[in-house]
Amino acid sequence: MSKIPEGLVARLRSATGPENIITGGDTLTTLSKDFYWYSPVLRRQLDDKRAEVVVRPGTVSELRAVVAACFEAGVPVVPRGAGTGNYGQCVPLYGGVVVDLSRLDRILSLEGGVARVEAGARLGTIETAGRAAGWELRCMPSTWVKCTIGGFFCGGSGGIGSITWGGINAPGNVKSVTILTCEAEPRLIRLEEGESLKALHTYGTTGFMVEIEMRLAPKVDYDQLIFGSTDWDKLLDWTDGAARRADWRKRLVTQFEWPTPSFFKPLKKFLPAAEHVSFLLIDRARTAEAVAAAEAAGLVCRYRQPLADPPKPPFITDYTWNHTTLWAIQSDPAFTYLQSGFGSNFREQFAELHRRFPGEILLHLEWTAGNSKMLRGNAAALNADPIVVGGIPLVHFRSEERLNEILAACAELGVFIANPHTFHLEEGGRHPNIADKRAFKGEVDPRGLLNPGKMKTYANNPFAPATVPA
Ligand SMILES: Cc1cc2nc3c(=O)[nH]c(=O)nc-3n(C[C@H](O)[C@H](O)[C@H](O)COP(=O)(O)OP(=O)(O)OC[C@H]3O[C@@H](n4cnc5c(N)ncnc54)[C@H](O)[C@@H]3O)c2cc1C
Repeated sequence: MSKIPEGLVARLRSATGPENIITGGDTLTTLSKDFYWYSPVLRRQLDDKRAEVVVRPGTVSELRAVVAACFEAGVPVVPRGAGTGNYGQCVPLYGGVVVDLSRLDRILSLEGGVARVEAGARLGTIETAGRAAGWELRCMPSTWVKCTIGGFFCGGSGGIGSITWGGINAPGNVKSVTILTCEAEPRLIRLEEGESLKALHTYGTTGFMVEIEMRLAPKVDYDQLIFGSTDWDKLLDWTDGAARRADWRKRLVTQFEWPTPSFFKPLKKFLPAAEHVSFLLIDRARTAEAVAAAEAAGLVCRYRQPLADPPKPPFITDYTWNHTTLWAIQSDPAFTYLQSGFGSNFREQFAELHRRFPGEILLHLEWTAGNSKMLRGNAAALNADPIVVGGIPLVHFRSEERLNEILAACAELGVFIANPHTFHLEEGGRHPNIADKRAFKGEVDPRGLLNPGKMKTYANNPFAPATVPA
């Protein structure tokens, strides 16, 4: 049954202009979706979910009018950036209105190493403008060309740059966030520094991010390097050592187990069969030293290409982080994935996973700075190293039961998993401060209209047949 009362579409139309309202067709379907289909579990749960209306405000005052109208009508309201999330974060569970924020995309200032931007600005646009002014983003997902900063704050965790700066939640990376509440008269609230964590990674359930201040890093000229070896352990030892070298400024340290490199079709001519490979983005001033060290360790440099400034492909980052899963699915739709954090005994954990699930798990490792809690839902389970070995292993999917067995084995072995097969944010495993997030939601979303059903421990969901107790 439609949740859209008569008159609401007309109000939305007058708030934003008729060209910014979508009420049907393929565009409505596309803007109701993200990349949840990476997970066979989410595919089953979310395939039939659609918004009834998509609205695209272009200014904060238009957004305010949209939110006030939706509040009065009592309909579900789901914020959306570029829709590149992986867990159905911006998929509406109960119909209603999707608010596409991609027109709120202005860069407001780039001063003193801080980017002040509207939430719909693309990270690629910020990176390009930042580099022109001598800066670069501290961390960004591999979807950086397309995704929005609001979507990264509300749905992402980290990626390129996290080897040096940690995840988006690492202290200092976010300077402030300005939020529009979902009330009869929507208010703007500004959260600074660590206070912003109560709105971070909350899937659009704690207000509309309208403006974000991100601290930047002084820009570096990078080389893109790929090293290969048929000896997994030799490659691992070298890559782990490179990740821990504080004197090598890096933006990416990644290692893939064969046959994963065979999925990277555009790189095929560089990557021989049977070789495991490591990908590095490293300060150009250190390239010669890194290549010499790798060759001395018995590795072969398979690819060496400067990263263009301003950014222009080829980008080796297009194969890393959760792009890897996309290449794998394109080669074989039976692949899905995990998001993992390993302990200081990571070598034993890898061996045990391979022993228990032969042929089912392909290791894809990403090193990050340990100042990040991005992979540390359970900090005690991981080591206290300054560098953490995490990753996004591929799983050859057999059944949901088998997937659950793998998740249980990871828990038993002390491998932290941020579960990507659930749309409930609490089960995604990055919420040590869930009580603060729930309390903040109560302040900014008193009627429980914002992306209802995603924060499952928030009791006030007027659209659910039954609510889940806190
Ligand atoms: C190929 C691929 C690779 C990826 N790699 C990475 C990676 O390296 N690291 C990583 O962290 N993620 C990664 N992701 C996930 C995703 O791309 C990022 O998290 C990205 O930052 C999401 O941004 P978006 O604009 O697409 O957000 P969306 O998907 O549109 O939204 C994400 C969530 O944020 C909410 N939201 C969006 N904008 C706002 C706003 N202004 N106010 C309030 N709520 C809002 C939405 O409701 C939704 O819940 C990857 C995904 C894919 C498909």
